Amino acid sequence: MSKWNLIIDVADCHNCNNCFLVCKDEYVGNDIKGYCAPQPLHGHKWINILAKERGQYPMVETTYLPTMCNHCDDAPCVKAGDGAVEKRSDGIVIINPDKAIGRQDIVESCPYGAIWWNDELSLPQAWTFDAHLLDRGWKEPRCVQSCPTGAMNAIKISDEMMAVLASAEKLEPIRNDLDTKPRVYYKNLHRFTKLFVAGEVLGTAGGVTDCVAGARVELRSAETELSVTRTDPFGEFKIDGMDPDCGACTIKISHDNFPTKSIKIQIKGDSVIVKTVILKGKS
Ligand code: SF4
Ligand code: SF4
Repeated sequence: MSKWNLIIDVADCHNCNNCFLVCKDEYVGNDIKGYCAPQPLHGHKWINILAKERGQYPMVETTYLPTMCNHCDDAPCVKAGDGAVEKRSDGIVIINPDKAIGRQDIVESCPYGAIWWNDELSLPQAWTFDAHLLDRGWKEPRCVQSCPTGAMNAIKISDEMMAVLASAEKLEPIRNDLDTKPRVYYKNLHRFTKLFVAGEVLGTAGGVTDCVAGARVELRSAETELSVTRTDPFGEFKIDGMDPDCGACTIKISHDNFPTKSIKIQIKGDSVIVKTVILKGKS
């Protein structure tokens, strides 16, 4: 049995908001019988693009994370709905617009905050994966169709094939710890959930100061090697994907032409930009 999955590459989302806007265009003012009542013009973000800034000057980057109903296979909203929320055989979760009237408790059942309360209609609502269009033969939902960077992709395959793809492409759901078996997967999610350590390395020798390319940069926590990289042609390095609570760490920088240098840092809650490291060679 093939089921729908949405794959979002966080590295390719530039916050153009097309996906958000087509969701508005599709649902605001439109009563799609059996699938969804009209979305209000204001207040709802069925596709909600979150932003996170990492780093400090001069190395700062912003990551955008489109979020929406994850169409979970083990969905708390389906359990709470008690017949008002349907899990279809193609994986899509639909909040039934007739059966869910007055059920504000369904909003609270979603641990992702993906359900919005329509005050006027007294109805919980969420992104339907554009099920009404897919049922008419569309090959993908409108958010995918409208994404100019190809950051979003929808595929309908078996769960076994999806598991193989997720493993090969390093795809992960937004909150693995919630264990609801989401059908929305992210690539490069570390850009939103993890930290980086970055800096630049200069070397002085014979009265000349220049970038040190190819230096080995090792990040250690006590006796454990966390990650290793090399400086680029500009002497810069970046180690990404670090947990926010690594604590006391050491950066060891080594290069054949310079003595090895170690720097102590603290990784706690925010990315770390190391002050320019200067290696002193023989004059
Ligand atoms: S349309 Fe694509 S690039 Fe634009 S905000 Fe949505 S996911 Fe990001
Ligand atoms: S993300 Fe929330 S609303 Fe969507 S299926 Fe999962 S629990 Fe239900």
